[in-house]
Amino acid sequence: RLDTQMQLKSNDEVGSLAQAIHDLSVELNHYRKNRSEFLANISHELRTPISYLRGYAQLIKHHRYQDKEELESYSAVIESEAIRLAKLIDDLFELSKMEEGRIQLYMQAVDVGELLEHSIQKVTLKAKEKNIGIEYEIDQELPLIYSDGARIEQVLFNLLENAVNYTEEGKVTVTATQAAEHISISVKDTGNGIPEEDVPFIFDRFHRVEKSRSREMGGTGLGLAIVYEIVKLLQGSITVKSEYGKGTEFLLKLPLKNTDNS
Ligand code: ADP
Repeated sequence: RLDTQMQLKSNDEVGSLAQAIHDLSVELNHYRKNRSEFLANISHELRTPISYLRGYAQLIKHHRYQDKEELESYSAVIESEAIRLAKLIDDLFELSKMEEGRIQLYMQAVDVGELLEHSIQKVTLKAKEKNIGIEYEIDQELPLIYSDGARIEQVLFNLLENAVNYTEEGKVTVTATQAAEHISISVKDTGNGIPEEDVPFIFDRFHRVEKSRSREMGGTGLGLAIVYEIVKLLQGSITVKSEYGKGTEFLLKLPLKNTDNS
């Protein structure tokens, strides 16, 4: 009887080992597939600005322009594509550092209200140009939180910039309130909205609803992926609610205290 039991036990162990190896290989394949998809995306994303650079440089080289204005407009395309390329490279680098945990957080007492006001200021000019109002209601009693202020500002600015970029008319509303364990920040717009089928992928790298509009805005398609990684590092959460054609709301929750560091 003992023998059979041993047998059973060892069969069991072999079984679970086999299962573990199987799971691992499924995961590995998934990772490989994601990785090669990601590399294909990167190479496509890098090629696009490069082909613009080459094309417009050739036009200039062969004097294929009517007048000074046309020449200037070609140079402007070259400049903006070079800026996009640099941003793309910076974003990719930042994302890969984050994913490998090679990012240093500078934790200190942070005033989220102040960071919000600062980020709002930075998008105000763009909002004014588009005739979009920015309304905000920041709880004046918000406590200081123990976190990385520069990273939080990066997240807030990104959400606000998107809200302004992807809104044609109406307004952006920002609120910040305190709950028991966290601060809640909502960035809501009356803009284009995100189709239901895109919502689950919106934090994925290079996922864009309208590629052409994102290009027009100088977007890289990596902004929300970076936001997601930062929020994860700061032990917060971010969710999105959107109605296509009506508007979008991003809800960010930041813990009052960070469990590892305080
Ligand atoms: P991008 O550089 O293209 O803006 P992001 O990662 O910041 O990249 O955003 C990914 C995509 O999500 C955008 O291209 C856009 O289609 C969509 N998106 C992001 N924020 C909003 C918003 N507030 N309203 C509508 N669509 C949005």
